[in-house]
Amino acid sequence: MSEVLLEIKNLKKYFEVGKNQTLKAVDDVSFQIYKGETLGLVGESGCGKSTLGRTIMRLYHPTSGEVLYNGKTISGHLSRGEEKECCRKMQMIFQDPYMSLDPRMKVVDIVAEGLDSQNTALSRSEREEQVVKLLEMVGLQKEHVGRFPHEFSGGQRQRIGIARALAINPEFIVADEPISALDVSIQAQVVNLLKKLQDEFSLTYLFIAHDISMVKYISNRIGVMYLGSLVELTSSQTMFDNPLHPYTQALLSAIPLPDPKAEKKRSRVVLEGTVPSPVNIPDGCKFCSRCRYATDECRKTTPNFHEVEEGHWVACHRYKKP
Ligand code: SF4
Repeated sequence: MSEVLLEIKNLKKYFEVGKNQTLKAVDDVSFQIYKGETLGLVGESGCGKSTLGRTIMRLYHPTSGEVLYNGKTISGHLSRGEEKECCRKMQMIFQDPYMSLDPRMKVVDIVAEGLDSQNTALSRSEREEQVVKLLEMVGLQKEHVGRFPHEFSGGQRQRIGIARALAINPEFIVADEPISALDVSIQAQVVNLLKKLQDEFSLTYLFIAHDISMVKYISNRIGVMYLGSLVELTSSQTMFDNPLHPYTQALLSAIPLPDPKAEKKRSRVVLEGTVPSPVNIPDGCKFCSRCRYATDECRKTTPNFHEVEEGHWVACHRYKKP
């Protein structure tokens, strides 16, 4: 898994939110996504992970920076043909299966939206046949084609959203909190389905979640975001075995352990201090106000996001470049 599919270079997405006020939702983020991998992206609500996903998907124009797909820039102006090709290769699964499906449309039309947008010359029966195949692929049945979204459970609706995303054989999928709105009992089923489909169709995922324990099972690598910046990125295993950034350490220490004895001994890093307003981020490290290791250097200088050992990136002054 070393072939780069997507490269995000110094990406920024700012929003003007008032007189002389700028919300830096995504602030100079750079990373790569390899073909066939799942990159989990975690962080508190409002840290910019969904904005990052949407900017990659061209739903927002970046303020600056670049997104490259297979080495080609896709973040600027594209011709109609390039735009269509981009839509075919990259699809999105949304968080809320209740909101993301049009309640007035039948499942057949929801799932076939992608096919229709690519102007595939299918007859009515071929189109329906294709939709049935997709529904069966995600664990639904033929008789579901004529039903409306309100006739399904949350887990089933998310399966419809997945079938819609798969309709035009994408290579890359941004799954934006796809399990957060589902019952815990259903979450594992949807994650297993995504894993199965990844194996079957060699898909690459950017899997966004607010809970780091949620992404461990599905992700090859995990990135942690804080106030619009990526603060740590490494393999899932290393992230859990040897987290470096104090924010990641706090996130991991909050996960309850299944073994009652170990749980009793678990020492939790409680974050104190206040989270700065995202429209008024102070100089230096953004995590300064909550970090127990903060020094004068941290208050003055923004730490670079750098590789401290092979494949392990962190933005913290405690770890110097080797
Ligand atoms: Fe804490 Fe300083 Fe590292 Fe920021 S740079 S996380 S304040 S030690």
